[in-house]
Amino acid sequence: MAAVDPDHVAQHYNAVPEKGVAERVKSRIFYLRNFNNWTKSMLIGEFLQKLEHNGIRHATVLDLCCGKGGDLLKWKIGRIERLVCADIAEVSLAQCEDRYREMLDRAKQERRQNDLFTAEFISADCSKKRLREAYEQKDIRFDLCSCQFSLHYSFASEQQARRMLQNACESLKPGGYFIGTLPDAARIFHCIKNAPADSAGKYANSVCSVEYEDKEGLSRGEQPPLFGAAFHFTLDEVVNCPEFLVHFPLLEKLLEEWNMELVYKMRFPEAFDKFLKDSKEGRGLLGRMQALEPYPAEEEEDVTPMGDKSEYKTAEYNLS
Ligand code: SAM
Repeated sequence: MAAVDPDHVAQHYNAVPEKGVAERVKSRIFYLRNFNNWTKSMLIGEFLQKLEHNGIRHATVLDLCCGKGGDLLKWKIGRIERLVCADIAEVSLAQCEDRYREMLDRAKQERRQNDLFTAEFISADCSKKRLREAYEQKDIRFDLCSCQFSLHYSFASEQQARRMLQNACESLKPGGYFIGTLPDAARIFHCIKNAPADSAGKYANSVCSVEYEDKEGLSRGEQPPLFGAAFHFTLDEVVNCPEFLVHFPLLEKLLEEWNMELVYKMRFPEAFDKFLKDSKEGRGLLGRMQALEPYPAEEEEDVTPMGDKSEYKTAEYNLS
């Protein structure tokens, strides 16, 4: 089990500069970021709609590990009523709050402030602190908890993963949803395991790299541990903090303890097909968000085939 330093995670995210639109357009991963953002929009839209079908027109939402507030506009479009944002990185959280205040000022100028959700912001290590103790309204109940691209940080240890899932689920209303996006552990492990001998334990393509920490274990053919399976990730040459593989069947099992049942899980390519099929607006939004990169014909296709999906197993679940 790896001991992750939570300050390291906070420092990393606090130090990521807020880039302007012009900078972002120049980025090598401009389209990839937009595509990820589109996927989040579709997912959030889908579950707000499900709630609406169940009679909840204006949802109460927990944005767990909200970052700089990249999803605030989605909550506005979804006409939610109340938002609680929590993150370990104070600087990111402050940027999230600033963005919300700007939205509120604009809404006031347009005399539409009653249309905008109310919000609160909690700075906390959500894999350690029990959020319920920090809410302004102690008995608040959420219709939706959204944890985007973040849950895997808590899989450093069983205790941390359990606390994060407790925060996600314990204040959900019956019939509420927990939605999220996270790295595909099976895919990552496949790429790592099949890396060429001269870069054992490390996979890289033209935009990202993943390096498994326990190379010795890998060389002995050991399966990743349930918790603390650390890997290092870089994207567009930015080195990220250590992240952890999340074995999905384990996540499902832990969530069952909170009486949660799986609605669906999908890899992004499948989700792309589903969202385009299910939603009339999805295709238009894809264009407006510039979420598809014109195919770089001169470049080699850089896709490692998935191969045998069963190769990523972990030790049997011996959860305490
Ligand atoms: N959810 C946001 C989004 O989709 O734009 C941010 C995603 S960013 C990749 C990961 C976020 O998780 C960072 O803001 C980081 O500070 C936060 N995070 C990581 N570990 C955390 C923890 N233990 N408690 C709270 N936030 C955490």
